[in-house]
Amino acid sequence: MIQAIVLDIEGTTCPVDFVSKTLFPFAQKHLNSALMRRDHDPEIDALVQEAINEWELDPDPVSQAMLMQAQQATPSTRDVGDYLQHLIQADRKSTALKELQGIIWKQGYLSGEIQSPLFPDVCPQLDNWRRKEIALAVYSSGSIQAQKLLYAHSNEGDITGRFCQWFDTRTGPKLADQSYTIIAQKLELHPNQVLFVSDHPGECDAARQAGMKSMFCLREGNPHQDPGGHDVAQKLSDIDLHKISQSDISSS
Ligand SMILES: [Mg+2]
Repeated sequence: MIQAIVLDIEGTTCPVDFVSKTLFPFAQKHLNSALMRRDHDPEIDALVQEAINEWELDPDPVSQAMLMQAQQATPSTRDVGDYLQHLIQADRKSTALKELQGIIWKQGYLSGEIQSPLFPDVCPQLDNWRRKEIALAVYSSGSIQAQKLLYAHSNEGDITGRFCQWFDTRTGPKLADQSYTIIAQKLELHPNQVLFVSDHPGECDAARQAGMKSMFCLREGNPHQDPGGHDVAQKLSDIDLHKISQSDISSS
């Protein structure tokens, strides 16, 4: 019998393009003004310093040419802004940039400028499961802090209270079955008492490999449209826990 449901976020409860079309452009737009606050914000100042350290070690020729052009011994805040914009354009990873984006998103959520758009079937179904005393948990590649911000500022209000546990990649990669073994342990359940729902067939494979039940969430606009042998739900309300539990009995 399913006792807990672990849900992915992007592509499962929230459209994938919320990240690409809302969150990233918002951070990019507000990056320079956030950097300018370094004079009275020690956290931002430390991240600007960290970005400069990353820049000096960045072997990319464009980055090096920009550093030469910055002329001064220490690049100005504006120079750092240009460098970080270059990283965004080139889709490069940077710890300092990631932290700065997190700060900018938090302010956007708190001011009400950003609101996460949940699929309309999500909240009613979460409530439905909670009435049946099913434990609900989150497992997403965004940090737990980012997950909580997203669910605290949704178009349905603050829904963080629906979830009892939160997991991010600190538990392990989403494509590694070991991560799902750990999640089941943390939920204090046998893996086959846990259902994992995701729009990524590789994540569903890993969960199933660990012994969990899997459900592939197929939403319009998702990059993954092939369920890869997993049961498919187009909405969370398509998920029939009774049927999933019965598949256990019939296969044993
Ligand atoms: Mg996803």
